[in-house]
Amino acid sequence: MSNEFDYIIVGGGSAGCALANRLSSIKNNNVLLLEAGNSYHPLARMPVSFAMLIDNPKANWRYRSEPEAGTSNRQIPVPRGKLLGGSSSINGLVYVRGQKLDYDIWAQMGNRGWSSEEVLPYFKKLENYQHDCDHIRGKKGPVKISQVNDRNPIYQALFKTGKRLGIPFNNDYNSEEQEGFAYTQTTIFNGERMSAKVAYLDPIKSRTNLTVITNSLVSKVIIKNKSAEAVEVLKNNKKQLFYANKEVIICSGAINSPQILELSGIGNPNILKKLGIQLNHPLNGVGENLRDHIGPRIVYRINEPGLSYNERARGFNLIKQVTNYFFKRDGFLTLPSAPVLGFLKTKPELASPDIQLHFIPYRVVLENGKRKLGKDPGITCTINQNRPDSQGSIHIKSNDPQEYPEIKFNFLSKSTDCETLISGVKLIRKLMNSPEVQKYCGEEVQPGTQTSSDEEILKFIRDKAETLYHPSGTCKMGNDKMSVVDNKLKVHGIKNLRVADASIMPTLISGNTNGPCMMIGERCADFILQNN
Ligand SMILES: Cc1cc2nc3c(=O)[nH]c(=O)nc-3n(C[C@H](O)[C@H](O)[C@H](O)COP(=O)(O)OP(=O)(O)OC[C@H]3O[C@@H](n4cnc5c(N)ncnc54)[C@H](O)[C@@H]3O)c2cc1C
Repeated sequence: MSNEFDYIIVGGGSAGCALANRLSSIKNNNVLLLEAGNSYHPLARMPVSFAMLIDNPKANWRYRSEPEAGTSNRQIPVPRGKLLGGSSSINGLVYVRGQKLDYDIWAQMGNRGWSSEEVLPYFKKLENYQHDCDHIRGKKGPVKISQVNDRNPIYQALFKTGKRLGIPFNNDYNSEEQEGFAYTQTTIFNGERMSAKVAYLDPIKSRTNLTVITNSLVSKVIIKNKSAEAVEVLKNNKKQLFYANKEVIICSGAINSPQILELSGIGNPNILKKLGIQLNHPLNGVGENLRDHIGPRIVYRINEPGLSYNERARGFNLIKQVTNYFFKRDGFLTLPSAPVLGFLKTKPELASPDIQLHFIPYRVVLENGKRKLGKDPGITCTINQNRPDSQGSIHIKSNDPQEYPEIKFNFLSKSTDCETLISGVKLIRKLMNSPEVQKYCGEEVQPGTQTSSDEEILKFIRDKAETLYHPSGTCKMGNDKMSVVDNKLKVHGIKNLRVADASIMPTLISGNTNGPCMMIGERCADFILQNN
């Protein structure tokens, strides 16, 4: 095999798979996709595998954040997919584009070409939406998207309460308006996961101009005269070089993309100097601007028998569900992490929703540090603020590419983030204590009604909140001195090097990030194919 390619893509995740497909659609392009993890995991196609792979070393990097005072000195788990498909192969399968406002903010920050109108064609290009829809949705793309068909009277009760309180039911939150309660749109088709690998790589296995090499950790990009020439790879403890005739595109996700840049001598000179890394280009923004959705889980008891997965996942019921899955690709093993979502405003005067709710019809307990389905039937509601202000950082701790970087989220360091989440907890209480929902549900189990003042609620959030697994922003796009890539995703100051993944998001979008990352991959492919 030759070690020279036109394009080298580092990381086969949501963005990397989309990019590999589109670049190799042109026969003359000779493309290499390098992935640190395995090519697949036997459980990954089963949707419920999100619960099984959440801490599995065979498919997951299993990062942990640093203890920080703002989150009661806990080390927060940061799962990331380590296999083809990346995090889309282990994620909760919820499909959300985000609000128009999110992208209009990016454009307003100076990123030409990224307004909601300008990213829309790329969302449409990736989508194959399985239901009736308007012209805003895509029907011909590789990623099949379907609505949850699980029906539960608690959801209906919630929608009724919403209607009474002026919160609409929204049949398509990925169309004009995001606001309202909705059945979740999922990256699930015929009961199986539609990861970026399944959507973008599996159908093009016969292409001879795309080489995919797994179990290959890229340790750095070789930079000569401010231009990316090659990548250094560790495979089976041996170093190997692959040369890029045209470009190297880093798609390693929000944790690893800044790590690779720093290992390649691109970053804050003070950090690199301390670790003995030769500076190739100073960029103080590398690893900064880390944002993620954090939120607490509010848990209620379910009184009506048969409505929670806690019961469906036990004894004979479980055997029935497993049989259903294997013979019919049906049942609760084919559901996403949350069947119902809410995009709501904590204040009526807001122009668009500032929080997202996930409703999950089961209750999880912690046993010996591991999350398990509890015995008692319950429903869990998570809240997160759509566009958090708190920003953290990710930086390497050594020049060893196998050593994990230091992740500091700095969660809940801005008062708006704290205030919005406190209001969100109060709103959930209003919804769950409504007469409609209380026909089926009982008391609040977590945090419990004794947690009532704003101070107590905030303490509960600091003690218990978890991430929604959407780290982003660590190689942010822009023109200011803390930006890392320009609006064509080219690394400032270095030729033939781009970054395309969640790390380029200047601000976090209002929703789950898989769809937007595939859009970023699609967008990057177009820049390259159009010689931009
Ligand atoms: C547990 C979990 C649940 C989630 N739930 C949802 C959800 O329900 N809906 C949703 O929209 N989003 C969800 N997300 C988030 C979403 O999946 C991610 O934001 C998205 O997949 C990130 O895409 P990416 O291209 O930025 O990176 P990734 O998809 O993470 O891809 C990066 C790839 O690069 C590889 N890589 C990293 N370093 C190197 C290296 N040095 N050399 C070679 N390869 C490397 C990785 O192994 C990985 O395959 C979830 C994420 C997780 C982890």
